[in-house]
This record gives sequence, structure tokens and C-alpha cells, in this order.
Amino acid sequence: MQTKFNDKKKIRRFVLIVEDEFINREVLGNILKEEYNILYAVNGREGLEIIRENASMISVILLDIMMPEMNGFELMEILQADEKLKHIPIIVLTAEGDSEVKCLTLGAADFIKKPYGLPEVIRARVMRTIELSEDRNFIYSAERDELTNLYSQAFFYEYAEMMDKYNPELKTDAVILNVEHFHLVNEIHGRNFGDQVLQVIGDVIREFLSGKEGLACRSEADTFFIYLEHHENYEELVQMVNGALSELSKSLHLRLRIGVYAKVEREILMEQRFSDARFACNTLRGNYMRDIAYYDMALRDRSIFMERLIGDMHEALEQKQFCVYYQPKYNIAGEEPFICSAEALVRWKHPKLGMIKPEVFLPVFEENGLISYLDHYVWREVAEQLGKWKKESDITVPVSVNVSRIDLYDRDLDEFLNDLLEENGLTQEQLLLEITESAYTSDTDQITEAVETLRENGFRIEMDDFGSGYSTLNVLTTMPVDVLKLDISFIRHIHEDQKALRMVKLIMDMAEFLEVPVIAEGVEIAAQYDYLKQMGCEIIQGYYFSKPLPAEEFAELYLDGIEQE
Ligand code: C2E
Ligand code: MG
Ligand code: MG
Repeated sequence: MQTKFNDKKKIRRFVLIVEDEFINREVLGNILKEEYNILYAVNGREGLEIIRENASMISVILLDIMMPEMNGFELMEILQADEKLKHIPIIVLTAEGDSEVKCLTLGAADFIKKPYGLPEVIRARVMRTIELSEDRNFIYSAERDELTNLYSQAFFYEYAEMMDKYNPELKTDAVILNVEHFHLVNEIHGRNFGDQVLQVIGDVIREFLSGKEGLACRSEADTFFIYLEHHENYEELVQMVNGALSELSKSLHLRLRIGVYAKVEREILMEQRFSDARFACNTLRGNYMRDIAYYDMALRDRSIFMERLIGDMHEALEQKQFCVYYQPKYNIAGEEPFICSAEALVRWKHPKLGMIKPEVFLPVFEENGLISYLDHYVWREVAEQLGKWKKESDITVPVSVNVSRIDLYDRDLDEFLNDLLEENGLTQEQLLLEITESAYTSDTDQITEAVETLRENGFRIEMDDFGSGYSTLNVLTTMPVDVLKLDISFIRHIHEDQKALRMVKLIMDMAEFLEVPVIAEGVEIAAQYDYLKQMGCEIIQGYYFSKPLPAEEFAELYLDGIEQE
């Protein structure tokens, strides 16, 4: 059905003639049989059987009205009510003109009057009907997303704009609905189930839109766009989707995120409206208290600010506006704590905006992949600094750099790092790699493989932000790591909250069992330090000892320490 008509010469289509009178069947069949394969039925019931068996094959039905058992009207009603069959065009064979209106409302595409007139006219009508229907089906299939039967993205924008045009005064909303961690549904329950989930969401959106002016499409795998007349409360949509999903599976706990740009400004391009809605939607990441976020003035300012950061980034790299700070890690196992390593942390000295912390710019760079450029830059800076220290002073302390998830997809990562080491006369033990725990939770196999390769090449891997909430304890037994860095959130409360303390103790015990050393991050006060030391934690990083420092200050601190020994 989806073949475009251009190749009509090659394909012999099927025509079904449903007619109780033998003579009429024969006459029609003879007129058409040279160009078409003809199927015959002697009444509506037989016709229906043939249609059901050959639905995808039949290009047009020629249908008599007055027939025994099941007449033409009855058959048309049945076909009209059937989603799969209603698209087959019907030409009604009729002697009386007065039933035409009824036939048209039942979906007839055309009429052929009895007694039959010129064969050329009949052939032309049949051909024209098939042509029109195939063109329509062709467009239909391109404009629809196969899985959910919502619009495809390209057509969606076009129709959304049409909706604006026909409703110049209507207040409208651009809405994005995203399923958090959808990839996990596919990974855990399989792709088929994942598809079902998306279908259910598509159905619910259609239901939500019924009776409203509006339309929807599926954009990427797990993201839906809705453009509709302004609606006050989208909580209803969340509940409808949650309700339908819990019917599909009781054990499924998916979290929806909805971003709304309400009462859009008409001057803003359709694509931009949805990118604003997405911006709002993204603010819900990791926020488990809210499902819906609105795009407002504050967000607009923020998004303009982010755009600016993205725009300024390349120049900033060229001009070395990014600088690396070093935060010491202290070994506290013995009598006197000493610096055993450091973490390289990036800062942006923006010429106009002043010093910017990584938590401000990193999330944007992570989202669009730019982070990789920055990471490469930082690694290079660190390697050069380490090379210089090694040559010019006694500082040979290992430094850890942060590695983003996206870096791990780069097949040449080892080579890049090895080249850096070689160029600066360093070995693998001097450059430690911190990989955040959350990087381990998606595309698990690929990430594990990449990390394994790094370790085989002699690099040591520190799992950063451990316990920040993404993975189960189970990852520790399966994931390749050499050191655990306990997330700041654990340490923050150990001196005042028994539960936090017990949790840290538990993780320390487990790490000991697995023979993986633990670094405690974010240690700020003596009480936290004391607890950690008692528990046998050997390495500590935090303001208690030192904030991240510019390279020269770090070098001084390190050399002071050595002198005191
Ligand atoms: P992280 O890797 O977990 O780094 C530790 C963060 O905790 C640093 O924040 C550090 O300044 C802060 N911190 C250290 N001690 C304390 C403390 O006692 N109290 C408190 N409240 N905070 C402490 P920073 O430098 O703002 O970095 C934030 C995050 O940005 C880092 O978390 C890391 O994920 C990322 N990051 C920093 N530099 C880079 C980089 O060059 N590349 C990549 N990919 N990520 C980086
Ligand atoms: Mg880190
Ligand atoms: Mg960390």
C-alpha cells in the first residue's frame, strides 16, 4: 500500500468486485482484467471475508448496494469502523442517484453508474481512485511515527504552524514530555516492552488531546512534543500516563518530566518554543519533588546566559581562560597526614563575567558534548604541569583528572592519554582518572569495556561521587574500579546523623572486603575527620585540609609538607 504510484506500470494491483448479479460481475471484470487482478464476491458477507484475508493487497473495492445476505451499506459500515480496513477506497456501483449522499458519508470514494457506460471511463475512474488513495497513504505513512501513530517531527512543526494560522487569537502551549531513564526500561524489560510503554504514552496523549485543539508527535525515542490550546494544569496528563502505565505493569515505576512553555509568544519560532520547553524540562533532572516545570523569565535569562557560555567556549579554550586548580588529597593513616595526591578541578576566568565555577558551565557542556574539548584541555594542562614539576622540582605527586562519560566513547582515548604522558615524560601512575558513578549506569557494557581497556593500559580508576544515588551497591562487584570516592553528601552529616555514619561504615566495610581503598570527599570539620579516621578511612580530600588551589600555591603547600618531614 505504501508504494508510490509512479511505478504503476510494474505492479498489477488487485481489484475486488462485490456484486450479486453474474452479468454485471462479468462485464466489469472483463473491462478491468487486462490491467488488474480481479477478485470476485457475490454478496457483502463473502466480500468481507475476502477483504479481511487480503486487506493489504486490495487496491480498490467495487461495491454493489443491493445484495442478499449483507448489502453494500452494511459492508461499508463495517469497513468504516475498522482501523485497518477503512483506508481501502470504495467505488459504489449504483443504479439510483439518491443513495449517493449516504454512500459518501460511509466513505465511498466514487460512483460508477449502472448500466455501465464506456469502458475507458470506468478504467479511468478506477485508476484515479487508486492513485488518490495511494498518494494519501504515502503521505500518511511519512507524516506518522510508526510506533505511536502520532505525527513525525517534520510534519508536526508544519501542522503546528498551520494550527497557529487558522487560530490567530488562540493562546497555545508548547509541551515536552520525557521519560526519565527510559533506556533502563529497554535494558531491563527488553525492547518490545519499551515499545509498549511508548505506545501507551502515545495513546494517553491522544486521549488527553481529544476535544482540545492540538496535536502531538514523538521526537526522539522517549520524548513527546505536544502543541495545544492553553491548558492550566498538566498534572492531569501526568496522572493519566501514570495510571495507564501502572495498568501495563505494576512493577514499573517510571518518572515523567514535563516542560511547558505556556502561552507562547507568536514571534518565537516553533522550533525555539520547543527548545524553551525542553530547557524547562531539563531543569527537572534529578529533581524528584516535581514533575512539571514551566519556562519563565528567570529561565529565559538563564538560557540566554547558557547560550553565551557555549558561544564563548572556543575562544576561552584558545585564550586559556580555563585554569586548573589542585585540591590536595591527604593520607591520614599514619601519625602525620601528608599529601599523597591531588585532584585537578577546572575554573573559568571569564574576562567579562569573572570567575565561574564548574557547576555553572559543566552541565551545559555535558549536554551538548562540548565537555570533551574542555576535558582534553584540562588533561593537557595537568600533564604539562606535572612534567614541569617533575623536571624543575621534586614534585612527583600523582594527580587525578575528571573523565566525562562522553570521553569514554572515544576509541582513541588511551592513545590520547598515552601520548600526553609520553610528551611530558610521565607514567600512567601519575595521572589518575576519576569517573563519576553515574557514567557507569547507562550503556553499561560499553562503558565497562572502555574502563577495562584503560586499566589494562596501566591507568588507575577512581569512581567519583560514589553513593550519589544512581547505582546499586551491586555495581561495585561488577565494575572495574581501583578506588572509591565517597560522595560529599555522605560525609556532610556523619558527625550529626547516626544513619549517615552507619552508612559510611557499611560502605567502608564493603570496600575493605573488596580490597578497594576509599577516599572521603568534602571533609570540612574536625568532627568529620575524626569519625573517618576512626573508621579506618585512609585518604581525605576537603576544605578541612585545603580548598582547591592554583598550581603555584599547591606546589608551595606540597613542598612545605615535605620539608617538615
Ligand atoms: P568532583 O569531581 O566530585 O569534585 C569535588 C568537588 O567538591 C569540587 O567542586 C571541590 O571544590 C568540592 N569540594 C572539595 N572539598 C570540599 C568541601 O570540603 N566542601 C565542599 N562543600 N566542597 C568541597 P568543584 O571544583 O566546584 O567541581 C565540581 C564538579 O565539577 C566536580 O566534582 C567534577 O564533577 C566537575 N569538574 C571539575 N573540574 C572538572 C574537569 O576538568 N572536567 C570534568 N569533566 N569535570 C570537572
Ligand atoms: Mg572528581
Ligand atoms: Mg567527587
